[in-house]
Amino acid sequence: MSIKENLDKIEEDLRESNVILVAVSKTKSIKDIQKVYDLGIRDFGENKVQEFVSKEPNLPEDIRWHFIGHLQRNKVKYIVGKVELIHSLDGVKLLQELEKHYKAKNLTANVLIQINIGCEENKTGIYLENLEELIEACELCTNVKVKGLMSVIPIGDEKSCRNYFRKMKYIFQDLKNKKFTNISMDILSMGMTHDYGVAVEEGSTLVRIGEGIFGKRNYNNK
Ligand SMILES: *Cc1c(COP(=O)(O)O)cnc(C)c1O
Repeated sequence: MSIKENLDKIEEDLRESNVILVAVSKTKSIKDIQKVYDLGIRDFGENKVQEFVSKEPNLPEDIRWHFIGHLQRNKVKYIVGKVELIHSLDGVKLLQELEKHYKAKNLTANVLIQINIGCEENKTGIYLENLEELIEACELCTNVKVKGLMSVIPIGDEKSCRNYFRKMKYIFQDLKNKKFTNISMDILSMGMTHDYGVAVEEGSTLVRIGEGIFGKRNYNNK
């Protein structure tokens, strides 16, 4: 299927919901990204700082960039002011680094807290038992605002996916019911190519879709 056919189908699937579609463009060329842009998409996701900074100047200025990968503290400086939303806040040290760099430029970092909901060692994201400490630290910030939660769930069948999405939604709702100054629960970022339908059924407000739009990624071909 062509990129246009892929996109038509996904947009049809999401039509009834108010879910934001982020096109995950990692490993994809400027040309392919421009193609998706020309079809009307404005939200794009990248997961590597270096790749993002090399592409960003070559693409239209009205793109809303989402940083969805693990963010190393020493790379924060390269993305300040360039991204709409950072999906991968996963610890107090990264938070402090974001606060420092955004404050220096008098800007606000909009972030999601990434939760390692499957407690997988090979994945990033904060473990639930450390969430409260991170939230308390976020409340002390002036230049970082938490807008919601993000998760990459373990690979599994539909039942397993549904369970993890439900857990995320429950945590999201629980935090939403509390009163914070720096934290609002507006965005629940979950769902990718193979499970976005289930994610939306379980309350996702933003899906991150790569291969489902662009076709298979070829990591050898960069
Ligand atoms: C690559 C990636 C996606 C998109 O995955 P697909 O299976 O291609 O849809 C979504 N979220 C994150 C964090 C990713 O790294």
